[in-house]
Amino acid sequence: MKQLSTLAGVVASVLAITSLSTTAVLAQEAQTAAAVVSPVKKTLADVEYRLPSTVAPTFQRIHLNIDPDKPAYSGTTNIDITVKAPTKKVGFYQQDLTVKSARLVSSSSTTPLDVTIGEYDINWGESQSEIAPGKYTLEITFEGKVNTSSDGMYLSRFEETNYIFTQFEDMHARKAFPSFDEPNFKIPYQMTISAPAHQEIVGNTPVEKVTVENGVKTVEFEKTKPMPTYLIAYTVGPFDSAEITGLSVPGKIYVPKGYADKTKFVIKHTPEILASLEEFFGIKYPYKKMDFVAVPNFTHGAMENVGLITYRDSLLLLEDNPSVTERSRPLNVIAHELAHQWFGNLVTMAWWDDLWLNEAFASWAASHTMKTLYPELNYADRIVQEGAFAADASPTVKPVKKVVKSQPDVMDGLGLNYSKGESILQMIESLIGTEKFREGVQNYMNTHAWGNTVADDLWRALDNVSDFNLSAMMKAYLEQPGYPLIHISKDGKLTQSRFHLAGATVEDKTWAIPLKLTYQSNGKILNEVVFIDKKTTVLPQLAEADWVYPNDNATGYFRWSVEPAQLNALLDNIDALNKREKKNVLYNYQALLNADEVGVGSVMKVLNSLAKDDDPAVIRAAVGE
Ligand SMILES: [Zn+2]
Repeated sequence: MKQLSTLAGVVASVLAITSLSTTAVLAQEAQTAAAVVSPVKKTLADVEYRLPSTVAPTFQRIHLNIDPDKPAYSGTTNIDITVKAPTKKVGFYQQDLTVKSARLVSSSSTTPLDVTIGEYDINWGESQSEIAPGKYTLEITFEGKVNTSSDGMYLSRFEETNYIFTQFEDMHARKAFPSFDEPNFKIPYQMTISAPAHQEIVGNTPVEKVTVENGVKTVEFEKTKPMPTYLIAYTVGPFDSAEITGLSVPGKIYVPKGYADKTKFVIKHTPEILASLEEFFGIKYPYKKMDFVAVPNFTHGAMENVGLITYRDSLLLLEDNPSVTERSRPLNVIAHELAHQWFGNLVTMAWWDDLWLNEAFASWAASHTMKTLYPELNYADRIVQEGAFAADASPTVKPVKKVVKSQPDVMDGLGLNYSKGESILQMIESLIGTEKFREGVQNYMNTHAWGNTVADDLWRALDNVSDFNLSAMMKAYLEQPGYPLIHISKDGKLTQSRFHLAGATVEDKTWAIPLKLTYQSNGKILNEVVFIDKKTTVLPQLAEADWVYPNDNATGYFRWSVEPAQLNALLDNIDALNKREKKNVLYNYQALLNADEVGVGSVMKVLNSLAKDDDPAVIRAAVGE
């Protein structure tokens, strides 16, 4: 999903990067740093907020009767399940539906179920007698009301016409039909929708069969690939459409009636974005079709449903040749949603506590695609961590990794986690290099295609292609809140503490941090990578340095400070830094002022230095653009 408010703005163009010979020196600390990740994939223990592991769905059919002009709808669903241990009840999710009947059917018996509503939207279908282990079909008939808010199955009224859309992420499929609504249940679905014959009906997969009887059209869609419920989507309305040609699969853009001529820009650029992502992942787009839908009044930005991606209409309906600033968001959001077709859809988080990674990766991949295809949009200049640092300095901020039980838990802190997560992925990419990063992601995709993962699976895949102990670094950054401030003394002593604003009290922490140092010694500029994972670390080579800058290309998720004399020396040699780094010096010292770590004089020195820069973008940063 892409929430529009989290999209960072575009900043100006790139300075040529100062070319320096890079010697990566891996400090001893990297080998000893923190915990080893268990090689055994975590099994999901039974917890009260999830369905028991003794019953597993294998396939689900859903038939819905929908008329966009009516507030209610009806449906039936048949869920093939395997009962693994004797039980008297079978659980499933539903919310705000009326269950009319439920029964369990096997080849030899039909067992009626008495349904009661439990905690966490879990409903329990109870049998009079014990249900023996084996294969069954859970058959449920139900009725529901179409939502008017943008989740579940909902109504959007546009220009006097009703349209039905769906938004099932995160726990909203249960509002549309009974289901095993957890992301780790990746099974095939077969959707059938009946609606008035004049309506267009679109789903996740191509149409298998259409019949019309008594003015009602019934569309049977092809069975899906294994997927979680939150990626199911369908839409019913009098849409117009335009074909997207040049994709590796068929694709269309569905738009509200009369708007098909506004899709030329998106039709032109979508194929190159999809091709770029296919190349990045080394796997062709994994589904049979790829449709977009322009949703009027969509409160979310966009949603990566398998084969049927929904977008706020303003992202797809554009002038034929929008300006640079107008094209940046639509292209970035399209790249984000398409990246999810692999990261999130083909490989899915086992549970919602890793949603942050799903979003962080899609954001990272979208930025990567923008840099590759559209350098003129200046994504290379965005310093993404600046969007996370303020919120992540709060004394009450929570770690990225936390227990998620319910829908409010999923949403809690998600905005910060998107940008902190993207920043941390960027830090890994910068540390191991883009090609190694891609190799690790490709291995991860190939290993886990069509399955579920936890975040540790990705760190392990990246560990395997690099010399760094990324798992230790990720543990520190994800399991504790906030981020470090690293102070570099003139004698080469590095001290880390938790960054906090002036007057705030925070619990101190220690991180495993990769530092990409640039420093000048005996007139030579040197680059070096070190890992620090202790409160203090001594780097004798820095004691000799004329100046030091510890954040090569401004990709680190930390603040830093140097002694005043070293700051003066750095500013005297400021042109040894690239544009991102110069801006980082400024943002960093402004943050240090807010933390009461330096006086206003230090910030003024930085401002004076940057105000004399040759690059207008640096000058604009200095005057607070
Ligand atoms: Zn997303």
